[in-house]
Amino acid sequence: MDGRTSGAEPAAGGAVGGSGIDWGELRAAAIAAAARAYVPYSRYPVGCAALVDDGRIIAGCNVENASYGVTLCAECTMVGELHMGGGGRLVAFDCVNGSGETITPCGRCRQLLFEAAAPGLVLNTPAGLRSIKEMLPQAFGPADL
Ligand SMILES: [Zn+2]
Repeated sequence: MDGRTSGAEPAAGGAVGGSGIDWGELRAAAIAAAARAYVPYSRYPVGCAALVDDGRIIAGCNVENASYGVTLCAECTMVGELHMGGGGRLVAFDCVNGSGETITPCGRCRQLLFEAAAPGLVLNTPAGLRSIKEMLPQAFGPADL
């Protein structure tokens, strides 16, 4: 059906394609990132990874803080890596918790992903592959300014 390789496969039932994406590579990068999470308070590590349109794989982990409200989600540190590495647009995205289970980005992070998305960004979710437009319908973005 598509070019996926071994490793954790996206859940079935996705409404979008994602063909040609090495989801196993993204999953491995997300799991490795989760292992680096700084989560002394919640003890809920999260790791995420994305394929950039220039072929790079970037990743991020959540970083908590004693002042809870300034805690960074994994997507925050990943988008920082995106720009520190020269920018680009996200083509595919995966996110896991410390048990390696697929989880979805929080609302704020969907907004971050929307602004960094290549057209047709595909997210692996517990419900299968979904487009960024499905994950953040009627999004507010740069075109609204
Ligand atoms: Zn978040």
